[in-house]
Amino acid sequence: MFRAILIEKDADGYHAALRSLEPARLPDCDVRVRVEYSSLNYKDALAITGRGPVVRSFPMVPGIDLAGIVTESGHPDYRAGDRVVLNGWGVGESHWGGLAQQAAVRGDWLVPLPDAFTTRQAMAIGTAGYTAMLCIMALERHGISPASGDIVVTGASGGVGSVAVSLLSRLGYRVVAVTGRPEEEDYLRSLGAAEIVGRDSLSHPGRPLERARWAGAVDVAGGQILASVCAAMQYRGVVTACGLAGGMAFPATVAPFILRGVTLVGVDSVMCPRAERVEAWRRLAQDLNPTELETMTQEIALSDVIPAARDLLEGRIRGRIVVAL
Ligand code: NDP
Repeated sequence: MFRAILIEKDADGYHAALRSLEPARLPDCDVRVRVEYSSLNYKDALAITGRGPVVRSFPMVPGIDLAGIVTESGHPDYRAGDRVVLNGWGVGESHWGGLAQQAAVRGDWLVPLPDAFTTRQAMAIGTAGYTAMLCIMALERHGISPASGDIVVTGASGGVGSVAVSLLSRLGYRVVAVTGRPEEEDYLRSLGAAEIVGRDSLSHPGRPLERARWAGAVDVAGGQILASVCAAMQYRGVVTACGLAGGMAFPATVAPFILRGVTLVGVDSVMCPRAERVEAWRRLAQDLNPTELETMTQEIALSDVIPAARDLLEGRIRGRIVVAL
């Protein structure tokens, strides 16, 4: 038997609980993994609480990421004992996921864990940190460098935001952190933020073009905040949009795009091609400061996951949560 969070939807409604499951219930897949750590991302919190339409079939084990040791493999690239990491591919949404002591997954979804990381560090990074790196790689691909100017990061105290602030500052960028939690100023400065901006100042509709402030952006908020960020980009600035913590809408005008040549780049981690994932993990191993990673991480047990999911959606979690299996 192995322990897992199981989400069910039946006549009694939508509910998540810690359960003991038979290994025979795992999906039929070519690789089995003993999960050492998973993590709690925004999407996991939506799945566990039922507040967002994340889960596509029931019953479902949530957990969009995992790191662990291969125990059985019919895939040519993996053998028992290999250390692996998995992000996305619908795991925890339409395929049983990482918030469980065992997982059965497709070998094609796995990335070998870089030697630099323990499985715990891999999940301290998790999908949030890997997405932060995808955003930074997108900025670079569109020609942004530290010489271009300031980079604004929204939702800076959250998972994607914390890793983005830390990485960007280590890479030599001047980082402006947007947060709704002024009490986290010291934390954000410790990760390398040079300036803190209150979320309120971007939460209301403004002019189509505002003062040109930022060369690049990592946005996890969407909604009015993303629109306000676009309006304040410098000429030929680049905005990476990866989240909707502030809403799904995009109440913007075309002015920044047609008058300042701003580029809006969508970033998706779930179906991201394998070569880019491997490169993102390589870059994380190279560029992320492990000490800063630890300061942004708290560890919880599987039995703490359900209350933690509610806290995360209420904006009460700082940085990243790793789940020890
Ligand atoms: P977290 O909950 O850890 O962080 C989100 C942060 O957003 C919060 O900490 C808060 O930061 C800020 N925030 C919360 N509510 C609002 C609001 N109403 N308006 C503006 N900002 C708000 O989540 P993650 O970092 O795990 O994920 C962030 C977003 O990115 C989510 O929408 C998630 O779905 C998305 N995401 C997308 C991926 C992709 O593949 N595209 C992959 C990973 C994440 P503060 O208090 O500092 O303001």
